[in-house]
Order: sequence, then structure tokens, then C-alpha cells
Amino acid sequence: MYNYTKHFINGEWVESTGSETIDVINPATEEKIGEISSGTEEDVDRAVKAARAAFPSFSQTSKEERVQLLENIANEYEKRKDDFIKIITAELGSPVTFTEEVQYTMGLNHFKAAAKILRDFEFTERRENSYIQKDAIGVAGLITPWNFPTNQISTKLASALASGSTVVFKPASKTPIASVLLTEVMEKAGVPKGVVNLVNGKGSEVGDAISSHPDIDFVSFTGSGAVGKKLMQNAAEDIKKVALELGGKSPIVVLDDTEVETAARTAISKVASNTGQICSTGTRIFIPKAMHDDFVEAVKKLVDEYPIGDPQDKNTFTGPQVSKDQWEKVQDYIQQGIDSGAELIVGGKGKPEGLDKGYYSRITMFTNVDHNSKIAQEEIFGPVMTVFTYETIDEAIELANDVIYGLAGFVVGKDPDKLAKVAKSIRAGRITINDSAPDFTAPFGGFKQSGIGREWGDYGIEEFLEPKTILGMPK
Ligand code: NAP
Repeated sequence: MYNYTKHFINGEWVESTGSETIDVINPATEEKIGEISSGTEEDVDRAVKAARAAFPSFSQTSKEERVQLLENIANEYEKRKDDFIKIITAELGSPVTFTEEVQYTMGLNHFKAAAKILRDFEFTERRENSYIQKDAIGVAGLITPWNFPTNQISTKLASALASGSTVVFKPASKTPIASVLLTEVMEKAGVPKGVVNLVNGKGSEVGDAISSHPDIDFVSFTGSGAVGKKLMQNAAEDIKKVALELGGKSPIVVLDDTEVETAARTAISKVASNTGQICSTGTRIFIPKAMHDDFVEAVKKLVDEYPIGDPQDKNTFTGPQVSKDQWEKVQDYIQQGIDSGAELIVGGKGKPEGLDKGYYSRITMFTNVDHNSKIAQEEIFGPVMTVFTYETIDEAIELANDVIYGLAGFVVGKDPDKLAKVAKSIRAGRITINDSAPDFTAPFGGFKQSGIGREWGDYGIEEFLEPKTILGMPK
């Protein structure tokens, strides 16, 4: 049992002022694996006071000291590799191979990238008759979702620490244990007391208290649009800066020079990775009309090569949804797809055969989809994909852009001019051509209703800085 009923405030593990706890459930077994405290407004206030008290000295540390701190964190994180893999696999249901290769690694890479970038980051600049100085923003409130338990918080923590800001953070209450480990890593790495404070609990209580706390200068949030809107309203009360990393409905545009098998494998692997619970994954595939039927046949033939099942099994590609609620939401969308008249290529409602226990969905693809229907327009956050055909590249681009989201996009094919044209025309924050690897030094974030602001690398650090202009600064 992972029982972590203390918050980390001012460098110490302290009891919550509340007495309630929240169960942590393994979605593959539906069993309780631990519990955390359901924190209170008072806990948040204590944490904010600690972060505020730590700010004057931490914000004045040298760049070299903070580079060293980020390197220490990366080293300590690596020492806990087995623990991270075990915990993320258990609390999220993320398959162990994916947990190791993606979940664990992404969480680590943000600290490494921030250390590397910080080394050459310029906090001051002279321009005409100005001296520009970038100051740490102050106390930041960080709120994160459950789909990448270390990645989402690591990118925020790495940028905050690089900037010299202090933080109060609240991870998702479905996957909080990885954040407890990460806080232990911070402690071991020598993060000064009060600089990083963890308050566990419900979004409606702890999250709400963070976004409305008058002594928090900046809230960096990753999660759903619905909560993002509420948080912005709270933050508006005292003109608090917000950065929002929200949902997506990303397109995959397949060019006509792509092998059908490559198109089918791209589609299946994108929608089935992390059980479709990736904000930036491709969930709308655009196929040249002439390729459609062969593509459908290829998906039917290949889908079983992506096994769904026990996250502890190294060969599993897709685990369960994170929770019963999320499973029900996905089932509901599949029913809406059927009701809208779309045609099922693979998958459908219910659990895959032999997986009665655990919140498992079937990898599902619909074709002949009405582009205005809910399954075509709304984020499902499960392994459900919609397939569309196109006749010209311009038509594909127009359809790809015809959603309220703009987080990411994918282009698959060979012709360099067409690849570049599609990549440049999709209105989204990150476009991946073929199977290019992520770049932790490049910005990540959304256009349109996918968010405000950027994370990762120097763009992420800039979010935690306030530029100040001094006119007439003596040389
Ligand atoms: P969510 O329901 O919005 O929750 C996100 C976080 O906000 C959780 O910690 C949650 O706490 C907290 N929260 C809930 N209500 C709150 C409130 N009233 N005030 C302040 N905080 C509150 O999202 P989710 O279901 O965890 O995550 C899925 C969503 O995240 C999807 O839409 C996905 O696309 C998006 N996402 C975006 C990115 C990106 O980088 N753009 C990355 C990953 C995920 P509880 O856990 O206690 O509810």
C-alpha cells in the first residue's frame, strides 16, 4: 500500500489540516493501492506562505547554482527509476514498456533540457537605451492531470526552478503517488526549503484554492478546457497570469505517396498509445480517397498486433483507461458514434474479450464520419479514431484545421514539398513529420482552445519570468 497522507510544506512532510483521504485505485485491477490526504484551503495557504518566504533568496540564486540544482534533480530522479516505473504502471495502468520508454524518460528529460538551456540563458539584455532584466515571476501554482504523472509536472517544475520562482503544486488526485516520489527526489537533490511545496487533494478544493489565492502570482495549469475556463475566471479576480495546456483533437494527414501499412500502423499506434489518453495524439486521420478501402483493410489486419491487457506484461501496448469514469466517457462517445451513423472499422463498445476486470476499452475506429458530429469534433481521450477522406491537399488542410483545438498535428508521407506545406499550414503548436522524435528544447503548447502559453525549454522558462525595462541604467 502506498499511503502518503502528508503534504510537503516548507521542506517538511506535514499532516494535513483536513481529516479526509482519497483512495488511489489501480485501474487494471480496480483495487485500492494507496491513499493521500484530501488537502484544504488552509494547507494551500500554509504552502503559499512557505513559497513566498523562500522566494527572496531563491530568486537571487545564481544561474550556476540553479543549473547544479536541476542536474542534481535529474541524478536523483534516475536513482528512483524502478520506483517511478512501478508506481506509474500501478496508478495509471500505463503498460510497463511504455512507462519506462516514455513516461519515465519524458519526466527526466525536462530537467536535463532545462539545465542545458539555463547554462546559456540570458537574463539581461541591452537594447538602444534600455537595460532589460528578466525577474522570476514569484510564487507559481502548478496543477496537473493524470495522463503523464511525471512528465506534466516535471516540465513545470524544471522551468520554475530554472527561473528562480518558488512553487505550490497539486497533481491529479487519480495519480498522485508519482508526485510524492518526485517531491522526495527534490528533497534529496537539495531543493531549499519552501521552494517546492506539494499539497495533495481534490481539484475542486486544493486546485480552486490555488487558482484563487491572492498571493500566487502565476498559475500554470494542464488539464481540460472546462477546468481551464473556471481557473481563468478565478485568476481574473486579482489579474493573476495563467498558462493553460488544454485538450486536443489532432489530425494525421496521410499523403498519397505513403504505404498503406505505414498509414494503418501510424493510426493504430497513435490512438492506442497510453490508451488514447494523450492530449497531443492524432485522433482524426485524413486519407486520400483512393487509399481509403485499402487503409481500412490494413487496420483490420494489423490491429491485433497492438495487444490490450495487463500493464505489467512487457508485450502489452494498451492498458486500461485511468478510471471507471473515463471508461464510461469513452463508451458513451463510441455509442454516440454509432448513433450518428458512422461506420465501425474495428472495436466498438464493451471490454475486449477476456478482460472483464479493469477499465479496458477496445481500440476503435470509425469511418464515414460526419465531420460535424461529436466524435469528429470533441476530445474523447480514449482509443477512438475517426477516418476522413480527401481529394486535394488543400481540402485535407481545411478539414484538419476545422476544429476548436490546435495542440498538435502529424503528416505522413514522402514528398518533401507536400510534407512541408501541410506541416506549415496546420494551425497547431506542434507538428510531427513522419516518426520524428520529440525535442525537449522546443516549445510545446496549443493554438486556439488548446491553450495559452508554452512549456518545454527556453519558452517554458520565459513563462515564469517578468521582463523589466530600465531606462538610463549606468554601464
Ligand atoms: P481535469 O479534470 O481538468 O484536471 C486537471 C487538474 O485540475 C487535476 O489536478 C484536477 O484535480 C484539477 N482540477 C479539477 N477541478 C479543478 C478546479 N475547479 N480548480 C482547479 N483545479 C481543478 O483534466 P484531467 O481529466 O485530469 O486530464 C485530461 C485533460 O488534460 C484532457 O483534456 C487533456 O487533453 C488535457 N491535457 C492537456 C495537455 C497539454 O499539454 N495540452 C497534457 C495532458 C493532458 P483532480 O485530479 O482532483 O480532479
